[in-house]
Amino acid sequence: MWYAIVLAGGSGSRMGADRNKVLLELRGEPVIVRSVRAFQGLVDGVVLVTRGEDIPAVRAAVESARLPVTIVPGGDSRQASVWNGLCALPSDCTHVLIHDGARCLVDGGTIRRCMTSVEECGTGVAAIPAIDTIKQVDETNIVTATPDRATLRAVQTPQGFTVDLIRRAHVAAMQEGFLGTDDASLVERLGVPVRLTLGDRRNIKLTTPEDMLMAEAFLPADFPALRIGQGYDVHRLVEGRDLILCGVNVPHTLGLLGHSDADVALHALMDAMLGAMALGDIGKHFPDTDERYRGISSMKLLEHVVALLEENHARVTNCDVTIVAQKPKLLPYIPQMRENVAAALQLPIDRVNVKATTTERLAFEGREEGISAQAVCMIHQQ
Ligand code: MG
Repeated sequence: MWYAIVLAGGSGSRMGADRNKVLLELRGEPVIVRSVRAFQGLVDGVVLVTRGEDIPAVRAAVESARLPVTIVPGGDSRQASVWNGLCALPSDCTHVLIHDGARCLVDGGTIRRCMTSVEECGTGVAAIPAIDTIKQVDETNIVTATPDRATLRAVQTPQGFTVDLIRRAHVAAMQEGFLGTDDASLVERLGVPVRLTLGDRRNIKLTTPEDMLMAEAFLPADFPALRIGQGYDVHRLVEGRDLILCGVNVPHTLGLLGHSDADVALHALMDAMLGAMALGDIGKHFPDTDERYRGISSMKLLEHVVALLEENHARVTNCDVTIVAQKPKLLPYIPQMRENVAAALQLPIDRVNVKATTTERLAFEGREEGISAQAVCMIHQQ
């Protein structure tokens, strides 16, 4: 079983922030939420370690994002915080990834490479080749050595280990009073080989205000503001009912059967609008068991759906409705249908199309047993 320990203990001092930097927002979302979410679907659970005073705020942030995590208080040092996290792992946890909460841009590939390496050899630590030439200096800033850059790596997190190994390394470090800047160094002291895996240059540790700007630039683009929706509906043709299509009462010997006025074209359109917004379908919003909707004009229902979209800061930008009927001839009524729809959607007429087709006498539409309608629409969400 895999767990991630996410460290969210840092203050905001180098960030110049008035609070724990993991609570700062990056494009509207707290850093810690982004960090924890990176592990979702990859591990079986997350233990989040943070300062006691930050627990309520951190808990509120991750709960609002509906992320299942165990939150434990941190210790006096990074190492002590990791130890607290290790102590909070469930007994059947065999593998662990230790991650800086301030590295919220970590990607699935980096995490997976660490995990694969741990499964192969017990360790897997994200790192990238050094780009700068690194100098070693003495206390007076005089260079004492220039290590060969090809042999240097900048180490990131996650750092992954089998749980037994990392626990053993922490116990040994505690007993010897050794304080490391990362977990790998504790394992190295045991004489156990630590294997590095490829990290990512975008996997930066948010430390200064400039890092926030860089992270903003690295974030993947938001979803486009446009959404597309599709709807389909069928109603049976019967005697003794009006034939209502896009709000127009079309003279005919048969009409459509339904709980409402059975305006199959508007039903398809409404389903397209609800579908684009992932709001279900009209059956969910206007159940045919509800007496309020008996015989109701579907134009009224369309107004409800338009209002629902407005509540979600969304509006239709164009739509196309196809009515499939063998009879009657619908062409003379199409201009009025377009006007009705355009008025309800508050659109210019040239953004609303209604068309009709027959099925060359094939299928239920061709046999005049029923009429079907299809609709697509584009929606802009602010
Ligand atoms: Mg219907």
